[in-house]
Amino acid sequence: MTKSSTFRLSAREWLEANCPPAMRTPPPEGGIVWAGSRVHFDSTEQQQWFERMRDKGWFAPDWPVEYGGGGLDASDTRILEEELSRLRCRAPMINLGVWMIGPVLLASGSAEQKARHLPGMARGEVAWCQGFSEPGAGSDLASLSCRAERDGDSYVVNGSKIWTSYADRSDWMYALVRTDPAAGKHAGISMLLIDMTTPGVTVKPIDLISGKSHFCQVFFDNVRVPAENRVGAEGEGWQLARDLLGHERRAMSKFGDNNVPGVDFLALARQLLPLADTASRPLLAERVARAAMDEHAYKLTLQRAHEAGRAGQDVSGLVASFKYLHSEQNRERHELLMALAGNEALGWEGDPFDETLLKLTRQWLNSYTYTIAGGTSEIQLNILARRVLGLAASGG
Ligand SMILES: Cc1cc2nc3c(=O)[nH]c(=O)nc-3n(C[C@H](O)[C@H](O)[C@H](O)COP(=O)(O)OP(=O)(O)OC[C@H]3O[C@@H](n4cnc5c(N)ncnc54)[C@H](O)[C@@H]3O)c2cc1C
Repeated sequence: MTKSSTFRLSAREWLEANCPPAMRTPPPEGGIVWAGSRVHFDSTEQQQWFERMRDKGWFAPDWPVEYGGGGLDASDTRILEEELSRLRCRAPMINLGVWMIGPVLLASGSAEQKARHLPGMARGEVAWCQGFSEPGAGSDLASLSCRAERDGDSYVVNGSKIWTSYADRSDWMYALVRTDPAAGKHAGISMLLIDMTTPGVTVKPIDLISGKSHFCQVFFDNVRVPAENRVGAEGEGWQLARDLLGHERRAMSKFGDNNVPGVDFLALARQLLPLADTASRPLLAERVARAAMDEHAYKLTLQRAHEAGRAGQDVSGLVASFKYLHSEQNRERHELLMALAGNEALGWEGDPFDETLLKLTRQWLNSYTYTIAGGTSEIQLNILARRVLGLAASGG
């Protein structure tokens, strides 16, 4: 038996024994566990699944054991992801530390930063939020203006960050700040790790038209951040942010459907299609078939990229397309379900003929957010056009 098949077998056995059956279904609305000092569990099974995966080191399976990770190589990590997906296991927790800033610290953090921050992320004890976007800087992130001025052993931060997901329940933020306004747009940016309890940090939740929102605006008023909390050199923030956004997009494109409070697309489409009026049914049926084939092709492409990467081929161009493809396909599936459900899917309260439809409107609206978060689809296409296909920029 090869090393890979031995690992697959042991991972499968462990997951079958340790993933409670209730954790093998998509989470209900609001049922995702956000790791951190204020972690909350809705059920015993949720807590068991969290603690068992944590103690196994599988919140961060490919991190070194000394930082609380599982110490797996890339191939075994991929096998573990396949086995988790095969059993339809929920993500035991969500933690931007493990997904985003952790990999950046592993590659570019100081020895002190790694020792201080990585174990807390790997154990799900510290929640992190991302302070990148600002009221005047979204797609054009490099135009950010949140200022950090050096004063002795500290930086003094003034400004604001917006659309910061879950800032109100985060312990730390990794933020992009302008340390040198005289340098070029990209060259004057640095990355700081900011303790959210520092005096001068104010978090204000943002209300949206849909009611509940996890967005916040964060204000910094003369916030003193020790200079040792700067990641990399001064002015290196833009390169670090690009690395980090690469991790974010990869994490988003791997975030399996079983982890998104969602619906079984094909099952629901099959249930709704016979109810559509006879004139539009053939067209809708064709769209359902196309969406299902696209989803299948995407999964095969993920597998192909993995195999090619293992064989030493450069798959960076292919990988750069994943976030765009995954989020747009997800949006199309929800768009289609809305078209199939017709006015049965309007609204999210009341007494629908099917419980699932109650959730559909919210999930449909939510499917658009994935096409914006981590860089909009238009920006992804620009990146693909310029950096992958080498097409010339037209203006802007
Ligand atoms: C669910 C969600 C979670 C988020 N979480 C965070 C977070 O935790 N931390 C954080 O910092 N930010 C977060 N964001 C913010 C997100 O990064 C920004 O919304 C995104 O980068 C777009 O910026 P913007 O909203 O300012 O839109 P804009 O940049 O103003 O864009 C508006 C529209 O113009 C288009 N556009 C802009 N420039 C171009 C161009 N050059 N070519 C073609 N089209 C263009 C865009 O595609 C978009 O359709 C989150 C957003 C969402 C939806």
